[in-house]
Amino acid sequence: MAADNNLQVLLQDPSLSADLKHIAQKVLNHQRITFDEGVLLYEKGELGYLGTLANYIREEKHGDKTYFNRNFHIEPTNLCVYDCKFCSYSRLLKQRADGWEYTMEEMLDIVKKYDNEPVTEVHIVGGVLPQYDVPFYAELFRRIKEHRPDLHVKALTPVEYHYIFKKAKIDYATGMALMKDAGLESMPGGGAEIFHEEIRDQIAKDKCTADQWLQIHEEWHKLGMRSNATMLYGHIEKYRHRVDHMERLRQLQDRTGGFQTFIPLKFRNKDNQMSDVPESTVIEDLRNYAIARIYLDNFDHIKAYWAMISRTTAQLSLNFGVDDIDGTLDDTTKIYSMAGAEEQTPGMSTKEVVELIKNVGRYPIERDTLYNVVTDYNDFQFAEEAKPRFYKLPVVN
Ligand code: SF4
Repeated sequence: MAADNNLQVLLQDPSLSADLKHIAQKVLNHQRITFDEGVLLYEKGELGYLGTLANYIREEKHGDKTYFNRNFHIEPTNLCVYDCKFCSYSRLLKQRADGWEYTMEEMLDIVKKYDNEPVTEVHIVGGVLPQYDVPFYAELFRRIKEHRPDLHVKALTPVEYHYIFKKAKIDYATGMALMKDAGLESMPGGGAEIFHEEIRDQIAKDKCTADQWLQIHEEWHKLGMRSNATMLYGHIEKYRHRVDHMERLRQLQDRTGGFQTFIPLKFRNKDNQMSDVPESTVIEDLRNYAIARIYLDNFDHIKAYWAMISRTTAQLSLNFGVDDIDGTLDDTTKIYSMAGAEEQTPGMSTKEVVELIKNVGRYPIERDTLYNVVTDYNDFQFAEEAKPRFYKLPVVN
Protein backbone atom coordinates (compact mmCIF):
# COMPACT_ATOMS: atom_id res chain seq x y z
CA MET A 1 0.00 0.00 0.00
CA ALA A 2 1.41 3.41 -1.05
CA ALA A 3 0.45 5.11 2.22
CA ASP A 4 2.28 2.40 4.17
CA ASN A 5 5.45 2.84 2.07
CA ASN A 6 5.33 6.60 2.48
CA LEU A 7 5.16 6.25 6.24
CA GLN A 8 8.09 3.81 6.24
CA VAL A 9 10.13 6.23 4.13
CA LEU A 10 9.27 9.07 6.49
CA LEU A 11 10.42 7.02 9.49
CA GLN A 12 13.82 6.54 7.82
CA ASP A 13 14.23 10.28 7.19
CA PRO A 14 17.34 11.40 9.14
CA SER A 15 16.20 15.02 9.11
CA LEU A 16 12.98 14.24 11.01
CA SER A 17 13.17 15.30 14.68
CA ALA A 18 12.98 12.60 17.36
CA ASP A 19 9.65 13.82 18.73
CA LEU A 20 7.95 13.83 15.31
CA LYS A 21 9.46 10.42 14.55
CA HIS A 22 8.05 9.13 17.83
CA ILE A 23 4.57 10.29 16.82
CA ALA A 24 4.94 8.70 13.38
CA GLN A 25 5.94 5.44 15.03
CA LYS A 26 2.89 5.65 17.27
CA VAL A 27 0.64 6.08 14.25
CA LEU A 28 2.24 3.04 12.62
CA ASN A 29 1.67 1.06 15.84
CA HIS A 30 -1.96 2.28 16.19
CA GLN A 31 -1.16 4.02 19.47
CA ARG A 32 -3.08 7.07 20.60
CA ILE A 33 -1.22 10.38 20.68
CA THR A 34 -1.34 12.60 23.77
CA PHE A 35 -2.59 16.17 24.21
CA ASP A 36 0.97 17.53 24.16
CA GLU A 37 1.74 15.56 21.03
CA GLY A 38 -1.35 17.05 19.40
CA VAL A 39 -0.08 20.55 20.16
CA LEU A 40 3.37 19.57 18.89
CA LEU A 41 1.86 18.47 15.58
CA TYR A 42 0.28 21.89 15.16
CA GLU A 43 3.49 23.67 16.12
CA LYS A 44 6.04 21.60 14.25
CA GLY A 45 4.32 19.27 11.80
CA GLU A 46 4.91 20.27 8.21
CA LEU A 47 2.28 19.64 5.58
CA GLY A 48 4.03 16.68 3.93
CA TYR A 49 4.68 14.96 7.26
CA LEU A 50 1.11 15.44 8.49
CA GLY A 51 -0.34 14.32 5.17
CA THR A 52 1.72 11.12 5.24
CA LEU A 53 0.45 10.22 8.72
CA ALA A 54 -3.16 11.21 8.08
CA ASN A 55 -3.33 9.46 4.73
CA TYR A 56 -1.92 6.30 6.28
CA ILE A 57 -4.77 6.30 8.82
CA ARG A 58 -7.34 7.25 6.20
CA GLU A 59 -6.32 4.43 3.87
CA GLU A 60 -6.12 1.92 6.70
CA LYS A 61 -9.70 2.77 7.65
CA HIS A 62 -11.25 3.31 4.23
CA GLY A 63 -8.75 2.63 1.44
CA ASP A 64 -9.63 5.00 -1.40
CA LYS A 65 -13.33 5.08 -0.55
CA THR A 66 -14.71 8.60 -0.43
CA TYR A 67 -18.23 9.15 0.78
CA PHE A 68 -20.92 11.63 -0.12
CA ASN A 69 -24.67 11.72 0.27
CA ARG A 70 -27.66 13.22 -1.48
CA ASN A 71 -29.33 15.65 0.84
CA PHE A 72 -31.04 18.99 1.04
CA HIS A 73 -31.17 21.58 3.75
CA ILE A 74 -33.99 23.40 5.47
CA GLU A 75 -32.93 26.49 7.38
CA PRO A 76 -36.08 27.46 9.31
CA THR A 77 -34.89 30.99 10.01
CA ASN A 78 -31.83 33.19 9.90
CA LEU A 79 -33.06 35.23 12.85
CA CYS A 80 -31.57 34.36 16.17
CA VAL A 81 -31.84 35.32 19.80
CA TYR A 82 -28.07 34.83 20.11
CA ASP A 83 -25.34 37.03 18.74
CA CYS A 84 -22.27 34.89 18.05
CA LYS A 85 -19.44 37.11 16.92
CA PHE A 86 -18.36 34.88 14.02
CA CYS A 87 -21.86 34.39 12.62
CA SER A 88 -22.46 35.88 9.19
CA TYR A 89 -25.77 34.16 8.86
CA SER A 90 -28.02 35.35 11.63
CA ARG A 91 -29.86 38.62 11.96
CA LEU A 92 -30.89 39.84 15.37
CA LEU A 93 -34.57 40.23 16.07
CA LYS A 94 -34.35 44.00 15.57
CA GLN A 95 -33.30 43.25 11.97
CA ARG A 96 -36.35 41.08 11.40
CA ALA A 97 -37.05 42.69 8.05
CA ASP A 98 -33.75 41.28 6.74
CA GLY A 99 -34.57 37.72 7.61
CA TRP A 100 -36.83 34.80 6.92
CA GLU A 101 -38.97 32.69 9.25
CA TYR A 102 -40.51 29.65 7.61
CA THR A 103 -43.81 28.35 8.84
CA MET A 104 -44.42 24.66 9.34
CA GLU A 105 -46.27 24.48 6.02
CA GLU A 106 -43.48 26.26 4.15
CA MET A 107 -40.95 23.78 5.48
CA LEU A 108 -43.15 20.85 4.52
CA ASP A 109 -43.50 22.37 1.05
CA ILE A 110 -39.70 22.31 0.72
CA VAL A 111 -39.74 18.61 1.64
CA LYS A 112 -42.47 17.94 -0.93
CA LYS A 113 -40.41 19.54 -3.71
CA TYR A 114 -38.05 16.59 -3.37
CA ASP A 115 -40.77 13.95 -3.67
CA ASN A 116 -39.40 12.52 -6.88
CA GLU A 117 -35.74 13.09 -6.10
CA PRO A 118 -33.47 10.30 -4.82
CA VAL A 119 -32.36 12.25 -1.75
CA THR A 120 -31.84 10.28 1.45
CA GLU A 121 -31.54 13.02 4.06
CA VAL A 122 -32.98 16.34 5.13
CA HIS A 123 -30.59 18.45 7.19
CA ILE A 124 -32.44 20.99 9.34
CA VAL A 125 -30.57 23.72 11.18
CA GLY A 126 -30.85 27.49 11.51
CA GLY A 127 -31.22 30.31 14.00
CA VAL A 128 -32.93 30.13 17.39
CA LEU A 129 -36.33 31.77 17.81
CA PRO A 130 -38.98 31.37 20.53
CA GLN A 131 -41.74 30.16 18.19
CA TYR A 132 -39.67 27.13 17.20
CA ASP A 133 -40.21 25.19 20.40
CA VAL A 134 -40.53 21.55 21.45
CA PRO A 135 -44.10 21.06 20.16
CA PHE A 136 -43.23 22.81 16.88
CA TYR A 137 -40.17 20.71 16.11
CA ALA A 138 -41.82 17.49 17.31
CA GLU A 139 -44.70 18.13 14.92
CA LEU A 140 -42.34 19.07 12.07
CA PHE A 141 -40.32 15.85 12.44
CA ARG A 142 -43.49 13.78 12.74
CA ARG A 143 -45.05 15.29 9.64
CA ILE A 144 -41.88 14.91 7.56
CA LYS A 145 -41.71 11.22 8.48
CA GLU A 146 -45.42 10.76 7.78
CA HIS A 147 -44.99 12.32 4.36
CA ARG A 148 -41.79 10.50 3.46
CA PRO A 149 -40.77 7.71 5.84
CA ASP A 150 -37.54 6.92 3.94
CA LEU A 151 -36.14 10.44 4.38
CA HIS A 152 -33.63 10.53 7.24
CA VAL A 153 -34.25 13.51 9.54
CA LYS A 154 -30.94 14.97 10.73
CA ALA A 155 -31.85 18.05 12.69
CA LEU A 156 -30.88 20.76 15.13
CA THR A 157 -27.89 21.10 17.38
CA PRO A 158 -27.52 21.33 21.16
CA VAL A 159 -27.80 25.10 20.74
CA GLU A 160 -31.46 24.72 19.74
CA TYR A 161 -32.12 21.73 22.00
CA HIS A 162 -30.73 23.42 25.10
CA TYR A 163 -32.88 26.48 24.37
CA ILE A 164 -36.15 24.64 23.69
CA PHE A 165 -35.77 22.11 26.52
CA LYS A 166 -35.06 24.90 29.00
CA LYS A 167 -38.14 26.75 27.80
CA ALA A 168 -40.22 23.57 28.10
CA LYS A 169 -38.71 22.87 31.56
CA ILE A 170 -37.63 19.37 30.61
CA ASP A 171 -34.22 17.76 31.10
CA TYR A 172 -31.98 16.72 28.22
CA ALA A 173 -32.71 13.00 28.54
CA THR A 174 -36.48 13.55 28.43
CA GLY A 175 -36.17 16.05 25.60
CA MET A 176 -33.99 13.89 23.37
CA ALA A 177 -36.26 10.87 23.93
CA LEU A 178 -39.21 13.03 22.90
CA MET A 179 -37.43 14.14 19.72
CA LYS A 180 -36.54 10.55 18.89
CA ASP A 181 -40.17 9.50 19.30
CA ALA A 182 -41.20 12.35 16.99
CA GLY A 183 -38.93 11.13 14.19
CA LEU A 184 -35.49 12.66 14.76
CA GLU A 185 -32.90 10.17 13.53
CA SER A 186 -29.57 11.89 13.97
CA MET A 187 -27.98 15.12 15.05
CA PRO A 188 -25.60 17.24 12.97
CA GLY A 189 -22.41 18.50 14.56
CA GLY A 190 -22.95 22.25 14.72
CA GLY A 191 -22.85 24.63 17.64
CA ALA A 192 -19.64 23.17 19.04
CA GLU A 193 -17.50 26.11 17.85
CA ILE A 194 -14.54 26.00 20.24
CA PHE A 195 -15.26 24.39 23.59
CA HIS A 196 -12.56 26.07 25.66
CA GLU A 197 -14.13 28.79 27.80
CA GLU A 198 -11.30 31.27 27.13
CA ILE A 199 -12.46 31.40 23.51
CA ARG A 200 -16.12 30.38 23.73
CA ASP A 201 -16.86 33.24 26.12
CA GLN A 202 -15.51 35.69 23.56
CA ILE A 203 -17.17 34.41 20.41
CA ALA A 204 -20.35 32.60 21.49
CA LYS A 205 -21.01 33.74 25.02
CA ASP A 206 -24.70 33.19 25.61
CA LYS A 207 -25.58 29.96 23.90
CA CYS A 208 -25.12 26.48 25.35
CA THR A 209 -21.81 25.84 27.07
CA ALA A 210 -19.31 23.20 26.04
CA ASP A 211 -20.49 20.88 28.82
CA GLN A 212 -24.11 21.31 27.79
CA TRP A 213 -23.24 20.60 24.14
CA LEU A 214 -21.44 17.42 25.17
CA GLN A 215 -24.21 16.35 27.59
CA ILE A 216 -26.90 16.62 24.94
CA HIS A 217 -24.89 14.48 22.53
CA GLU A 218 -24.25 12.00 25.34
CA GLU A 219 -27.96 11.69 26.10
CA TRP A 220 -28.63 11.19 22.39
CA HIS A 221 -25.96 8.50 22.16
CA LYS A 222 -27.41 6.75 25.21
CA LEU A 223 -30.59 6.29 23.17
CA GLY A 224 -28.50 4.30 20.69
CA MET A 225 -28.49 7.16 18.19
CA ARG A 226 -25.67 8.76 16.19
CA SER A 227 -24.43 12.29 15.72
CA ASN A 228 -21.58 14.33 14.27
CA ALA A 229 -19.19 16.88 15.76
CA THR A 230 -17.62 20.06 14.42
CA MET A 231 -14.92 22.55 15.40
CA LEU A 232 -14.82 26.15 14.19
CA TYR A 233 -11.13 26.88 13.74
CA GLY A 234 -8.84 29.53 12.34
CA HIS A 235 -9.90 32.66 14.24
CA ILE A 236 -8.71 33.77 17.70
CA GLU A 237 -8.10 30.34 19.16
CA LYS A 238 -4.63 28.93 19.86
CA TYR A 239 -3.49 25.46 18.88
CA ARG A 240 -3.99 24.20 22.44
CA HIS A 241 -7.66 25.22 22.25
CA ARG A 242 -8.11 23.09 19.14
CA VAL A 243 -6.49 20.11 20.82
CA ASP A 244 -8.57 20.66 23.96
CA HIS A 245 -11.67 20.63 21.76
CA MET A 246 -10.74 17.36 20.10
CA GLU A 247 -9.71 15.87 23.45
CA ARG A 248 -13.18 16.49 24.91
CA LEU A 249 -14.73 14.85 21.86
CA ARG A 250 -12.35 11.91 22.02
CA GLN A 251 -13.23 11.33 25.67
CA LEU A 252 -16.97 11.38 25.01
CA GLN A 253 -16.50 9.08 22.05
CA ASP A 254 -14.60 6.64 24.29
CA ARG A 255 -17.65 6.55 26.56
CA THR A 256 -20.42 6.30 23.96
CA GLY A 257 -19.05 5.56 20.48
CA GLY A 258 -21.97 7.61 19.15
CA PHE A 259 -20.10 10.06 16.92
CA GLN A 260 -19.79 9.17 13.27
CA THR A 261 -17.92 12.07 11.75
CA PHE A 262 -15.75 14.99 12.74
CA ILE A 263 -16.09 18.10 10.58
CA PRO A 264 -13.57 20.93 10.94
CA LEU A 265 -15.27 24.20 9.96
CA LYS A 266 -13.11 26.98 8.60
CA PHE A 267 -13.84 30.41 10.04
CA ARG A 268 -14.91 32.82 7.30
CA ASN A 269 -14.74 36.56 7.95
CA LYS A 270 -17.30 38.11 5.64
CA ASP A 271 -20.07 40.23 7.18
CA ASN A 272 -19.62 39.32 10.80
CA GLN A 273 -18.26 40.92 13.94
CA MET A 274 -14.85 39.31 13.43
CA SER A 275 -14.20 40.62 9.95
CA ASP A 276 -10.85 41.99 11.08
CA VAL A 277 -9.62 38.46 11.87
CA PRO A 278 -7.77 37.00 8.89
CA GLU A 279 -8.85 33.61 7.56
CA SER A 280 -6.64 30.54 7.69
CA THR A 281 -4.65 29.58 4.60
CA VAL A 282 -5.36 26.46 2.56
CA ILE A 283 -2.13 24.98 3.94
CA GLU A 284 -3.41 25.49 7.48
CA ASP A 285 -6.78 23.99 6.51
CA LEU A 286 -5.07 20.86 5.20
CA ARG A 287 -2.82 20.62 8.26
CA ASN A 288 -5.89 20.90 10.46
CA TYR A 289 -7.72 18.08 8.65
CA ALA A 290 -4.64 15.92 8.96
CA ILE A 291 -4.16 16.55 12.69
CA ALA A 292 -7.85 15.87 13.31
CA ARG A 293 -7.46 12.53 11.52
CA ILE A 294 -4.41 11.67 13.64
CA TYR A 295 -5.83 12.86 16.97
CA LEU A 296 -9.34 11.45 16.74
CA ASP A 297 -8.39 7.82 16.52
CA ASN A 298 -11.85 6.73 17.68
CA PHE A 299 -13.78 8.63 14.98
CA ASP A 300 -14.54 6.68 11.82
CA HIS A 301 -14.83 9.63 9.45
CA ILE A 302 -13.40 13.09 8.82
CA LYS A 303 -15.56 15.27 6.59
CA ALA A 304 -14.81 18.38 4.52
CA TYR A 305 -17.75 20.53 3.45
CA TRP A 306 -16.86 21.22 -0.16
CA ALA A 307 -19.38 24.07 -0.20
CA MET A 308 -17.37 25.84 2.48
CA ILE A 309 -13.77 25.24 1.42
CA SER A 310 -14.15 25.05 -2.41
CA ARG A 311 -14.10 22.01 -4.64
CA THR A 312 -10.35 22.12 -5.20
CA THR A 313 -9.49 22.21 -1.51
CA ALA A 314 -11.99 19.41 -0.93
CA GLN A 315 -10.13 17.33 -3.53
CA LEU A 316 -6.80 18.09 -1.85
CA SER A 317 -8.20 17.24 1.56
CA LEU A 318 -8.73 13.63 0.43
CA ASN A 319 -4.96 13.19 0.83
CA PHE A 320 -5.01 14.74 4.30
CA GLY A 321 -7.29 12.41 6.21
CA VAL A 322 -10.67 13.37 4.78
CA ASP A 323 -12.88 10.52 3.51
CA ASP A 324 -16.23 12.33 3.18
CA ILE A 325 -17.09 15.48 1.23
CA ASP A 326 -20.73 15.85 2.29
CA GLY A 327 -23.65 16.06 -0.05
CA THR A 328 -24.78 17.06 -3.46
CA LEU A 329 -26.77 19.89 -1.79
CA ASP A 330 -28.41 22.07 -4.37
CA ASP A 331 -28.29 25.63 -3.23
CA THR A 332 -30.51 24.95 -0.23
CA THR A 333 -28.06 26.28 2.32
CA LYS A 334 -27.03 29.89 2.84
CA ILE A 335 -24.78 29.27 5.85
CA TYR A 336 -21.52 29.04 3.87
CA SER A 337 -22.22 31.52 1.10
CA MET A 338 -23.25 34.25 3.53
CA ALA A 339 -19.98 33.78 5.41
CA GLY A 340 -17.96 34.40 2.25
CA ALA A 341 -17.36 30.89 0.92
CA GLU A 342 -16.17 30.63 -2.69
CA GLU A 343 -19.32 28.67 -3.57
CA GLN A 344 -22.07 31.31 -3.65
CA THR A 345 -24.74 28.98 -5.04
CA PRO A 346 -23.54 25.60 -3.85
CA GLY A 347 -24.90 22.84 -6.01
CA MET A 348 -23.37 19.77 -7.62
CA SER A 349 -25.07 16.95 -9.41
CA THR A 350 -24.21 13.41 -8.41
CA LYS A 351 -22.19 13.06 -11.59
CA GLU A 352 -20.15 16.14 -10.73
CA VAL A 353 -19.44 14.87 -7.21
CA VAL A 354 -18.43 11.48 -8.56
CA GLU A 355 -16.08 13.06 -11.11
CA LEU A 356 -14.60 15.37 -8.50
CA ILE A 357 -13.67 12.32 -6.41
CA LYS A 358 -12.51 10.15 -9.32
CA ASN A 359 -10.34 12.94 -10.75
CA VAL A 360 -8.04 12.65 -7.73
CA GLY A 361 -7.87 8.88 -7.87
CA ARG A 362 -10.36 8.07 -5.14
CA TYR A 363 -13.34 5.77 -5.11
CA PRO A 364 -16.79 7.45 -4.84
CA ILE A 365 -19.44 5.88 -2.64
CA GLU A 366 -22.85 7.39 -2.11
CA ARG A 367 -23.82 6.71 1.48
CA ASP A 368 -26.89 7.28 3.57
CA THR A 369 -26.65 9.29 6.79
CA LEU A 370 -25.46 6.23 8.74
CA TYR A 371 -22.80 5.30 6.15
CA ASN A 372 -24.69 2.41 4.63
CA VAL A 373 -23.73 2.16 0.95
CA VAL A 374 -26.46 3.50 -1.34
CA THR A 375 -24.52 3.28 -4.63
CA ASP A 376 -20.96 2.28 -5.40
CA TYR A 377 -19.87 4.63 -8.20
CA ASN A 378 -16.45 3.18 -8.95
CA ASP A 379 -17.47 1.47 -12.21
CA PHE A 380 -20.82 3.18 -12.58
CA GLN A 381 -21.78 4.49 -16.02
CA PHE A 382 -23.98 7.59 -16.00
CA ALA A 383 -26.77 8.17 -18.39
CA GLU A 384 -26.58 11.88 -19.18
CA GLU A 385 -27.70 13.46 -15.95
CA ALA A 386 -29.58 16.67 -15.56
CA LYS A 387 -28.14 19.48 -13.50
CA PRO A 388 -29.72 19.78 -10.07
CA ARG A 389 -32.80 21.91 -9.92
CA PHE A 390 -32.45 25.09 -7.97
CA TYR A 391 -35.27 26.09 -5.68
CA LYS A 392 -35.57 29.71 -4.87
CA LEU A 393 -34.88 30.74 -1.28
CA PRO A 394 -34.97 34.18 0.27
CA VAL A 395 -31.67 35.96 -0.07
CA VAL A 396 -30.56 38.49 2.50
CA ASN A 397 -28.80 41.46 1.02
S1 SF4 B 1 -24.05 30.77 15.17
FE1 SF4 B 1 -26.12 29.94 15.45
S2 SF4 B 1 -26.63 30.47 17.58
FE2 SF4 B 1 -24.94 31.81 16.98
S3 SF4 B 1 -25.93 33.68 16.19
FE3 SF4 B 1 -25.52 32.33 14.40
S4 SF4 B 1 -27.43 31.20 14.13
FE4 SF4 B 1 -27.49 32.07 16.23
